[in-house]
Amino acid sequence: MEKKNEMSAVEKKARQWLQERGVTIQDIADLVYYLQQKYHPNLDMKECIHNVERVIAKREVQNAILTGIQLDVLTEKGLIEEPLQSILSADEGLYGIDEILALSIVNVYGSIGFTNYGYVDKQKPGILEKLNSKSSGACHTFLDDIVGAIAAAASSRLAHRAANVE
Ligand SMILES: [Mg+2]
Repeated sequence: MEKKNEMSAVEKKARQWLQERGVTIQDIADLVYYLQQKYHPNLDMKECIHNVERVIAKREVQNAILTGIQLDVLTEKGLIEEPLQSILSADEGLYGIDEILALSIVNVYGSIGFTNYGYVDKQKPGILEKLNSKSSGACHTFLDDIVGAIAAAASSRLAHRAANVE
């Protein structure tokens, strides 16, 4: 186990890359709020932020962030070999590996995460809409799923903890 307050190089890089790709902790916490407010009427934004932080502190989540963002960046630079380059730049709906990678995050807090993930993926609120707008020229084929998955996992964590205190 790593010491609690000591952030690993992997975690630092994962956080840095999220930020460089235009995603803040607050953006993800907003998605958690969106998902959970109907179940927890007194939900505090601080609680949402805290749960996002705990999810990002997990190594398997950091690994998914680094892998997904790396593939998005290489795609933007045109450095992936064909036919994958075209598939990733077009964010082809039938590709599906972006969702599979994101499931490694969703599964961290059990099966409620799965339902939440499906829901935000369909609704695309907030930052997800922004990441999905193809107008910027940026490639977020993997990142949109990763962000949705972190929000879904943080929502499950919050729900589990709330159930234990209520
Ligand atoms: Mg995607």
